Amino acid sequence: MKKIILAAVTVSVLAGCQLTKSPTGRTQALMYSSNDMSSLGAQSFEEMKKNEKIVTSSQVNNYVKCIASAITAQVPASYGVTNWEVVVFDSKQVNAFALPGGHIGVYTGLMQVANSADQLAAVIGHEVGHVLANHSNERLSQNKLTSLGMEVANGAMGVAGVKNKALVMQGLGLGAQYGIALPFGRTQESESDLIGLDLMAKAGFAPEHSVSLWQAMAKASGGNQPMEFLSTHPSNEHRISDLNKNMASAKSSYNQARAAGNRPNCKL
Ligand SMILES: [Zn+2]
Repeated sequence: MKKIILAAVTVSVLAGCQLTKSPTGRTQALMYSSNDMSSLGAQSFEEMKKNEKIVTSSQVNNYVKCIASAITAQVPASYGVTNWEVVVFDSKQVNAFALPGGHIGVYTGLMQVANSADQLAAVIGHEVGHVLANHSNERLSQNKLTSLGMEVANGAMGVAGVKNKALVMQGLGLGAQYGIALPFGRTQESESDLIGLDLMAKAGFAPEHSVSLWQAMAKASGGNQPMEFLSTHPSNEHRISDLNKNMASAKSSYNQARAAGNRPNCKL
């Protein structure tokens, strides 16, 4: 009898939510369909392109696209996106992001900190990890954002027409650009670290540079540079040790990838 009541309560609480598993096997309650999230991602990316200065140098674009395409080539076909849009923004912001539906933005300021192809691959892998694990959907589905989420859904997912546009952008991980950062949680950060590590290794980028990336981030944040990236992607003391715990398996994927001919040669 107890079990039946429990089951009934669970169902009513989760009505409207879809229970799924993240790529690392964690149970998630998601309120939005992947089509809804892709639509939000596309509209937000258009906003970004309208409001931010875009780098036109083909040298810089080719470099970032070389890295991003090697990473996204490793995204499972089940995600349903084959053409990822990559834009480099001309800004001192130390930042990068990826949006549902296949959009990647990299700021030139980040390239000063992540100053090798392997380190930039670690950032892009991490960002794509947030997308593959539906972290934006998860955040927009959280209690404090639920009413906002309903507003978005009712407005045919129109970002521009939504009253609290800044909050929606925050849910997508674009908070720093709108003045208020809504950080990803520790669980989401760890999950993206592991997905990113796997993607970069399979793409043929040296996985140990995920560790040197976070060390470079920590060093840079000690200076006077604004660290937008760290405000939405909080570092934690376990990050480097968790990456190192998975390094042996990542190196094995890396060696297999290199042997199979995945040797990205991305140069600035
Ligand atoms: Zn993150």
